[in-house]
Amino acid sequence: LFNMENIILQNNVEIPVLGFGVFQIPPQETEKAVLEAIEVGYRHIDTAQAYQNEKEVGNAIKNSGLDRKDFFITSKVWISNFGYEKTRTSVLRSLEALQTDYADLFLLHQPFGDIYGAWRALEELHNEGKIRAIGVSNFYPERLAEFVSFNNTIPAVNQVEINPFFQQNQAIDYMRQKGVQPQAWAPFAEGKNDIFTNPILSEIGKKYGKSVGQVILRWSIQRGVVALAKSVRKERMAENINIFDFELSADDMAKITTLDLGKSIIINHYDPAVVEWISKL
Ligand code: NAP
Repeated sequence: LFNMENIILQNNVEIPVLGFGVFQIPPQETEKAVLEAIEVGYRHIDTAQAYQNEKEVGNAIKNSGLDRKDFFITSKVWISNFGYEKTRTSVLRSLEALQTDYADLFLLHQPFGDIYGAWRALEELHNEGKIRAIGVSNFYPERLAEFVSFNNTIPAVNQVEINPFFQQNQAIDYMRQKGVQPQAWAPFAEGKNDIFTNPILSEIGKKYGKSVGQVILRWSIQRGVVALAKSVRKERMAENINIFDFELSADDMAKITTLDLGKSIIINHYDPAVVEWISKL
């Protein structure tokens, strides 16, 4: 269906293994960035109500000249819109901003607040054909376990931080057991910890004539994890999508395993102060 490798979600919806993320792209720069991403081949775009650029993503898709069905569009409900009524209204508003009749995927952005009411609304919108697949984000194993235990619909996707420094092996194992597709946010760890000059990743890249960024994204998709890469620079957008002509050896995959720190260097969802801070955003 799409112009690259896809993964089939539990409800048979196809999702491209690589997406373009627009977090932290200011609204006034988003349409241009997404149009450039489309030009170099991205069809899977990841936005959110909280990013405040859904309208500009919609403009880019409309102005691309391509069909709506050529795209896979994800957005996310923010906490302040959780609860049955508010979620329903906010998703309909998001579709209007995105200028489309349907979203391919809608996620609950965080595991805090009235996620149960919000999920009822997503289930209903899914049944009405306004969302092709529904999922969650930042649901760490114990929260995901609770959620699947008390709902009928299992999330099709769980979008969490996954990168060489935070590999999330246990979390991914649990998702696999439940048929939840893992998606990686911040696949580059947002550039932290000198990831782009990491000696192990650089050494591996040299062998294949690929950059560190390309090695990371290839590692991600070879683990069966859908990766979301963000860049505002067209040459990097093109670099990041040029990962379908090589394969990392089992040895190199194992070398990357050694980089795992077992915890986030970006944000700690297990810290009560962080939970309170996110809940007030
Ligand atoms: P990221 O993709 O790990 O890193 C983005 C950073 O890497 C930017 O500073 C970018 O700079 C740089 N970069 C990109 N490609 C590069 C390359 N080839 N070489 C060198 N530098 C490169 O971080 P992210 O944007 O936070 O995460 C990606 C996407 O995941 C987001 O856009 C969003 O869609 C999603 N996300 C979701 C959540 C959630 O809670 N669900 C949280 C965070 C992110 P330039 O732009 O200047 O190129």
